[in-house]
Amino acid sequence: MDNCIFCKIVAKQIPASVVYEDDDVLAFKDINPAAPVHLLVIPKQHLDSLSDCGMEHAAVLGKMLALAPKLAEEHGVAVKSDGNGGRSGGYKTLINSGPDGGQEVYHLHLHVYGGQRPWRGLGT
Ligand code: 5GP
Ligand code: ZN
Repeated sequence: MDNCIFCKIVAKQIPASVVYEDDDVLAFKDINPAAPVHLLVIPKQHLDSLSDCGMEHAAVLGKMLALAPKLAEEHGVAVKSDGNGGRSGGYKTLINSGPDGGQEVYHLHLHVYGGQRPWRGLGT
């Protein structure tokens, strides 16, 4: 889509720090990270927001979400279990939709936040 910054990243017209790519999705580092690890996962096909998705998008949405634990592992923020019910590490996944949802870029994206807290503007 014309004038979409994330479509331009997909098309390699503007640079991004890409951490994963396949035929359907792209993941890259957020340019203004709110946490030590802050990645964005997007569909290559332009969709304005989650509000434009229906059941026909289940596969790509599933792929975006299923990528999060792999990215978390690769960036050192996976959930670790001590085998006795204790856990450490972890990350937050978030999709903002529309003005009231805090969406600023209108190309669907999944945020993956992790690393040492506090994280800017994300509460708990
Ligand atoms: P939203 O508020 O729409 O959920 O999040 C948009 C995110 O995109 C923000 O965290 C912002 O820092 C990030 N962002 C905006 N423009 C660019 C860009 O050109 N490159 C990258 N890598 N991230 C961007
Ligand atoms: Zn786009």
